[in-house]
Amino acid sequence: MKKIIIAIDGYSSSGKSTMARRLAAEIGYRYIDSGAMYRAVTLYALDHGMIDAQGQPQTDAIIAALPNIDIDFKVLPDGSQRTMLNSVDVEDEIRRLRVSEAVSPVAAIAEVRHALVAKQQALGAGKGIVMDGRDIGTVVFPDAELKIFVDASAETRAMRRFKEMMDKGADVNYEDVLANVVHRDKIDTTRAESPLRRADDAISLDNSEMTLQEQHQWLVDQYKQAAQ
Ligand code: C5P
Repeated sequence: MKKIIIAIDGYSSSGKSTMARRLAAEIGYRYIDSGAMYRAVTLYALDHGMIDAQGQPQTDAIIAALPNIDIDFKVLPDGSQRTMLNSVDVEDEIRRLRVSEAVSPVAAIAEVRHALVAKQQALGAGKGIVMDGRDIGTVVFPDAELKIFVDASAETRAMRRFKEMMDKGADVNYEDVLANVVHRDKIDTTRAESPLRRADDAISLDNSEMTLQEQHQWLVDQYKQAAQ
């Protein structure tokens, strides 16, 4: 089998990270969660007073701070990954609702995207990578050998994210999570800089009615065909 790049894009909470992570573990590829990188920049901006009470980012301040923001992933012995922001483990922090609520406007800043896309491309230079996000098949790796676009209804996606947050002990309600999912979809699909869209050569998957095992098997089959 040849070493390939696998790009998995889709809407918020479509389950793409779970699928991508599991596939990477099974086939021995590196997994990169590009959303975690946008979340880490957002956390930095929040913690440095660069996002106002209305959730509006101070674009110039964030652009000026980009050279001071170092994002990396630490792989633990069990294979799980932790997002590191300037050498601090922020994996739990970046999943909180305050970051989810602020991230899409930050991710719409062109300079933020250029900096993170360059890093993502460097991470994928040796192939053998599964990366998930919004623009992986369209902008980051337009030549990826396998591109998947995952979708599910907003309600299904919100319920998944809600359960995930509840399991982590977060104090959230479903309506807030649904509102956040719908709001992020809107910003992600309408922004000027690399909006979320399906690449013309991506394979679509609506996983609303699929179990995790079914999704995994489907993805493994796609990989086998693409890497032949
Ligand atoms: O994937 P996740 O939901 O964690 O991503 C958080 C946010 O980061 C998304 O809502 C989107 O605004 C942004 N994002 C992006 N491009 C990517 C990955 C994420 O704009 N490749």
